Amino acid sequence: MSEEKLYEFRRRWLPVYLVLLIALALVTVHLVAMYFFTGNTNYANLAVLSCLAAYFFYSGFQRLRRIRLTRRRVVELVKCTECGYSEERGHSAGDYVFKVKGRCPRCGAEMRVVAIYSVKLEEGKPAAGSAQIDFFTSRRGP
Ligand SMILES: [Zn+2]
Repeated sequence: MSEEKLYEFRRRWLPVYLVLLIALALVTVHLVAMYFFTGNTNYANLAVLSCLAAYFFYSGFQRLRRIRLTRRRVVELVKCTECGYSEERGHSAGDYVFKVKGRCPRCGAEMRVVAIYSVKLEEGKPAAGSAQIDFFTSRRGP
């Protein structure tokens, strides 16, 4: 299963598991209460069954919650052909390496795509990867 699909799966099923877990917990409490009020052992048997079902959903819920995903974002490195100035931008569809991409803000020469790659996005955090840019610019500077 791909990471995107796994993420979708988790996002869709986590609330379902939670709702079923709460519902089964309530049913179990209700059955136990009925057993104590009526003394009917059928209620006790059903309470044990619903308790087992609740445990099943609880363990499934915990398993889903433990899935940690690394989401990725595709970026491209655009570099000036004259002065070596470079910047990282979000990848747009149809871009390829060596494609001319606008003018250099520093000297006005052509900017070309020199690399396309993906960076990890930690869950709930904005894009990382500025350290990589510094590495590129300092090594390939004029
Ligand atoms: Zn330039």
